[in-house]
Amino acid sequence: MTEGKQLRSIRGTRDLLPGETETWDVVEGVVREIMALYQYREIRTPIFEETQLFARGIGEYTDIVKKEMYTFEDQGGRSLTLRPEGTAPVVRAYLEHKLAAQGTMEKLYYLGPMFRQEAPQKGRARQFHQFGAEVIGTDVPEADAEIILLFLAVLDALGLESWSLHIGSLGCQNCRPAYREELVAFVKGVEDLLCEDCRGRIETNPLRILDCKREGCRLATAKAPSQLDYLDEACREHFETVKRLLADRSVPFTVDPRMVRGLDYYERTTFEVLNPDLGAQDALCGGGRYDGLAEMIGGEERVPGVGFAAGLERILLALEAGGESLEFEPLCEVALVHVGDEARRHLFALCDVLRRAGVASTMDLTERSVKAQMREANRREALLALIVGDKELKEGTVTLKNLVDGEEETVPLEKVVPAVLNRLEALEEAAVEEEPEEWTGEDEGPDLDPGEAA
Ligand code: AMP
Repeated sequence: MTEGKQLRSIRGTRDLLPGETETWDVVEGVVREIMALYQYREIRTPIFEETQLFARGIGEYTDIVKKEMYTFEDQGGRSLTLRPEGTAPVVRAYLEHKLAAQGTMEKLYYLGPMFRQEAPQKGRARQFHQFGAEVIGTDVPEADAEIILLFLAVLDALGLESWSLHIGSLGCQNCRPAYREELVAFVKGVEDLLCEDCRGRIETNPLRILDCKREGCRLATAKAPSQLDYLDEACREHFETVKRLLADRSVPFTVDPRMVRGLDYYERTTFEVLNPDLGAQDALCGGGRYDGLAEMIGGEERVPGVGFAAGLERILLALEAGGESLEFEPLCEVALVHVGDEARRHLFALCDVLRRAGVASTMDLTERSVKAQMREANRREALLALIVGDKELKEGTVTLKNLVDGEEETVPLEKVVPAVLNRLEALEEAAVEEEPEEWTGEDEGPDLDPGEAA
């Protein structure tokens, strides 16, 4: 036998255990449902891509590309990278498969793991999960506003009420160079006050300096020029329209003149949705417009796009902090309880018959006592227990015990399935009558009806 220390999961990654996976399923289900309401279709891209895709798309001088990517060489000497984000792969796939004909657009969403070698802390992991949506092929401001409304609809459907929306505009290829020049001139004047990282950014990525969390850098750049004062006519008009569309829906937002995102591909609209309960890692979602991205990754022409990416772990933390109950136990309808080996053999077959009839059923696989089997049935909150011992074997019956009200009855073996289905239906009807009215994600949309924006 090989000896050694017990192996553990890698720092910054986490096992999602039973109990948590059910919660994730519910949240992912809500995401999918809202995406369908807004008519976005799912795309699944590979977990790894050519390194070039991210180096060119996200930007060589960004933190992600410089220090956070999991990059490796495969056996053929190709440089590959575990995806740190979803937008560049989605746009790559869009171009590769010519997803939209000229002049049309595509609305896509994704959901899955992303990888960044950041310092792990609460709300920041090395393998984390994002869902995101992209509108590719149009540059109208309605697409920007829809992307924001879509994310807020997900929060609403999840019952997450504490959030703040911050929006900005980074201008476009026309107006950004003039702003960049002004900004560089400004930061050169305060260079001595900046941290080492930011001094290095002056030539490579000056906008990022505005995003530095260090107190010294924040103070030094407090009076830095804002991109918003340098927008050209078209960018200003675009930004005004996005704000107007949000106001039409009564969505509260704050304009952030210093909004910079960590990825180079953004142009024009950028936004973030923050949650006040999350501490340092308070961004639930970030997004914006990326009209130049397709060309940056080798597309032959400009394909405008806008999208967001949201962190699933952060949303779960925020729900928890907001007091939402996130416990979802899987339903167990019938627990089969046997006394003796012969009954066990009979019940093994019956258990499979029930499962094939669509009944969630469990039976003991560890040869435990009847008492232990009943305890397990209660732990799983089974609705019915189906008990077979010597007496039932002799009579060709089973004892069906309703674990909700404790009533017992004897049912002939050949009538077990319909009897079980019958009892379950009655229990379900009784439960529906008792249930308080609440949004279940099944037959209602989120609480954003068209009449609301008066
Ligand atoms: P970004 O792709 O950096 O714009 O991030 C979009 C969203 O993903 C953020 O607002 C977070 O909610 C989430 N996120 C980003 N990085 C991490 C991380 N290392 N761990 C957990 N969530 C993250």
